[in-house]
Amino acid sequence: MTQSVDLPLLPRGAAGGLVDRHGRTATDLRVSLTDRCNLRCSYCMPPEGLDWMPVEETLSDDEVVRLVGIGVHHLGIREVRFTGGEPLVRRGLVDIVTRVRRDAPDVDLSLTTNALGLARTAQALADAGLDRVNVSLDSIRPDSFAEVTRRDRLHDALAGVEAAAAAGLTPVKINAVLLRGINDGQAPELTRWALENGYELRFIEQMPLDAQHDWSRTEMVTAEEILASLQAAFTVVPSEEARGSAPAERFLVDTGDVQGVVGVIASVTRPFCGDCDRVRITADGQVRNCLFARSESDLRAALRGDADDAAVAAQWRRAMWTKAAGHGINDPSFLQPTRSMSAIGG
Ligand code: SAM
Ligand code: SF4
Repeated sequence: MTQSVDLPLLPRGAAGGLVDRHGRTATDLRVSLTDRCNLRCSYCMPPEGLDWMPVEETLSDDEVVRLVGIGVHHLGIREVRFTGGEPLVRRGLVDIVTRVRRDAPDVDLSLTTNALGLARTAQALADAGLDRVNVSLDSIRPDSFAEVTRRDRLHDALAGVEAAAAAGLTPVKINAVLLRGINDGQAPELTRWALENGYELRFIEQMPLDAQHDWSRTEMVTAEEILASLQAAFTVVPSEEARGSAPAERFLVDTGDVQGVVGVIASVTRPFCGDCDRVRITADGQVRNCLFARSESDLRAALRGDADDAAVAAQWRRAMWTKAAGHGINDPSFLQPTRSMSAIGG
């Protein structure tokens, strides 16, 4: 029997989970709470920002909580990560976390954030039931931070990271993107800072997901270059721990003063799509089965119609089934998705 891509059929025996036709099961849900942001990272959006989504198009708090519940109770979702845009600018974030935690006590609940304002909300988020945070921080030098993000806010970001650790939102993971000519020489100092403070640092290769379409393969700082710069400064050996579906390759780093693990996420040069277990929901309630998907499924319309939870779950399963085998960045025919990273939810 052949499966139609346009009218996908679910495989036999897959009634419960979010499986795709390449045998993967998604259990890790990224939910974007807003496309708005208070930084302007140059690898993400232009200096003037983007045309933000009208509020009425954005999922309400009730809709977010309901969708996450459907994911957890009908579809086998085990990890939920709130992202954006910048999730801390979403009013109601603490309330959303409280309600999701109440509805799904066992789910692993985290937040990806630039940490601006986290100093004020970290404790409330921890009290609401958030488990941990991933903070995006590309430099600990004020001038480089301002050059990457186009805002002079390093001090606030560092205060946010410290508050997260103090509130027990641990392990605090730090995500860093290196840009040639700006912070590409700073891998060792970021590493030393992270290890000394007990944060888990991961370097991420820059992907073609910026709204301005400025990404260029030759400008991208590769995983190989990042490792070479760490090896020039420290003792670095690959970790023997199994990687599973985690995107980061892990390395044991010894600076001479401190030892720990650093990750490298080589999304472009060493894709890990075969082990991907993620699914995303945009701030306007569209399911995306991949960051690089070229189609979406409108769960908001289902929610705002009269679909019951089982019908929404069935639509979500159908959307997942058509997930492509790989992101295709390295194919000559690759086309960047219409939505950029901040509009999808990274
Ligand atoms: N504003 C929050 C933040 O920065 O953590 C959450 C949203 S942001 C889109 C999520 C992650 O995507 C960040 O770690 C950011 O560094 C990463 N990111 C954005 N654009 C990227 C790109 N073109 N390539 C690789 N990572 C990117
Ligand atoms: Fe904002 Fe995050 Fe994009 Fe930076 S990466 S502009 S903090 S959404």
